[in-house]
Amino acid sequence: MHDVTALKELLREPKHVFITTHHKPDADALGSSLGLAGYLRKKGHHVTVVTPSDYPDFLSWMPGNEDVVVYDPRRNDRQVREIIGTAEVLFCLDFSALSRIHELGEYVRQAPGTKVLVDHHEQPEPFADIAFSFPTAAATAELIFEIIRDLGDQALITPAIGECLYAGIMTDTGSFRHPSTSRNVHLIIAELLDAGIDLSSVHRRIYDSHSEERLRFLGFVLKDKLRVLREYNTAYIAITADELKQYHSKTGDTEGLVNFALSIEGIVFAAILIDRVQAVKISFRSVGSFSVSEFSRRHFNGGGHHNAAGGISHEPLEATVQKFLSLLPDYQADLVTAPLAVAPPQ
Ligand code: 5GP
Ligand code: MN
Repeated sequence: MHDVTALKELLREPKHVFITTHHKPDADALGSSLGLAGYLRKKGHHVTVVTPSDYPDFLSWMPGNEDVVVYDPRRNDRQVREIIGTAEVLFCLDFSALSRIHELGEYVRQAPGTKVLVDHHEQPEPFADIAFSFPTAAATAELIFEIIRDLGDQALITPAIGECLYAGIMTDTGSFRHPSTSRNVHLIIAELLDAGIDLSSVHRRIYDSHSEERLRFLGFVLKDKLRVLREYNTAYIAITADELKQYHSKTGDTEGLVNFALSIEGIVFAAILIDRVQAVKISFRSVGSFSVSEFSRRHFNGGGHHNAAGGISHEPLEATVQKFLSLLPDYQADLVTAPLAVAPPQ
């Protein structure tokens, strides 16, 4: 049970509520935001969800998507400042540092409303008045479910709200295969099924809705761009801005590519480095004891979770790749292949 006393008091009367989540929202970020928004609207609150950037098309099916305000500094800066400045309650979901919401970070920091953090990343920044920060949770959507339940409102979870939350839990657990997939996670899914979610349709809408071009891009990346460094049990992919252009890459098209690198037998550390022109964005993944959040925090101004993290570099792509490669020898002793556990004979 979460201590929801302060939150319950805060939401006793209908309020103007602002919800935001991290830059380039993924399914957990958007699903948590729209799941919470759906619930709060049912409670009579006036809710605006603002994302700091656009997000992949394969998330646009989520109920409430049509009302999301996508922040664009050239187009709606004033409107968004006004929303943030007048919000009585500001929910910050699925991120632990205000830098992850870019320009919105300063606006939120200075906002007079009550700030509520719901998140599962490591090392939260202390900017919130009420914080639900649980790095062991599999997904922020798991926490949103629990908070709604602990507020005594589980009965208000409709299939629409439930499918948003399911999408977040499904994707952040890697379809229920990461070690974060606890008993609690499965019990919550059972509750969501009781609420009427269509689980396989969520799966299809997220994983089986690629464009043909995205699949061709995947083929190119796997054939020509994947590098395997056996001596470090490491695999990585570096993608130039020209290559993104050549394949008409859209937001979301590179998501999940890093997992292919990690799926090679014996590989414990995988990275994808993408030249986004303004900066090189990096995703790290690991299996076992090697902490990519620590690696990313120390060397690439990032962070995240033990086995999944992100970072950023303001050097050119090639220099960033060289920096990454030059670090590996220091970690050779940590990059050991974990033997796959086998259940003991009965
Ligand atoms: P992804 O590689 O899928 O973008 O992110 C992996 C995890 O690390 C996610 O939980 C994401 O929120 C987090 N993450 C991604 N980029 C950054 C970053 O630049 N800084 C921090 N602190 N976390 C990040
Ligand atoms: Mn998450």
